[in-house]
Amino acid sequence: MLNEEHVCGDTGRAMFFDYLGRYFALPPKLVPLPIGTVCPECGADSVQLWQSRAGTPQCLAQNTITRKRFGRKSPDEPCAPGGDISGMCSFGLGSTVVCGPFVAEATTRLVPDHPVPEHVSIRFPERGDATRFVRRLVQTPPEPPFVAAVFGKKSSFKWSVTHDRSLIAINGPEALDVAPAAVLSLKFHLKGLGAGVVAKLLTLRARMALGDASEAEQKALNELLKTYPEIATTMPKLPAPGTSSASVLQSVLAQ
Ligand SMILES: [Zn+2]
Repeated sequence: MLNEEHVCGDTGRAMFFDYLGRYFALPPKLVPLPIGTVCPECGADSVQLWQSRAGTPQCLAQNTITRKRFGRKSPDEPCAPGGDISGMCSFGLGSTVVCGPFVAEATTRLVPDHPVPEHVSIRFPERGDATRFVRRLVQTPPEPPFVAAVFGKKSSFKWSVTHDRSLIAINGPEALDVAPAAVLSLKFHLKGLGAGVVAKLLTLRARMALGDASEAEQKALNELLKTYPEIATTMPKLPAPGTSSASVLQSVLAQ
């Protein structure tokens, strides 16, 4: 295993590497760049960088995320140190991680390149993982500090560390900060409404608030308020439909 003290200038990405990425890291088969080269991704100028295949300098942490290699096709395949088999998998779409001094969990098709300590959990991806991942972070966040990420197609993003459970950073190409107390209070009041009704409520509320509601929509909203009087208190706190806050709310309600 590589044992550089600092591998990345982004504190959050370095935390990903320290507590999880390192088990999936191999010395890059790329041209090393002279120390002092600045990483365009994280600004580091004193760590070893390599010339990536895309032509830009890359640190070991980022290489661990983007390096294409073998990935399991089913959860029945062993998740043992892989022996650097080639393939098309990376920490991309479908992968999630949450890790820090008190937690180390990855959902990925990748297999580690080094033996993994017992406290590290590696799960094979399943449908609905991202929703469950967000829900669990909101309802039962781990002991901070930690970094959480929902990976996507784009691998270059800034990583934020969560230091306090009152505001949780979910990193990734679609990064968002979630205040669990606000989401859980909405959940408390909207519980039992069903995803369809909540979606309708968010739309009607936004149209009303922006002055776009037709008479029929205004009537529909009043109807909803009459049927579910408990939602009146949630109205000022409802997220706009289609936003990441709305999808977090839907994730937490989908249970
Ligand atoms: Zn870096």
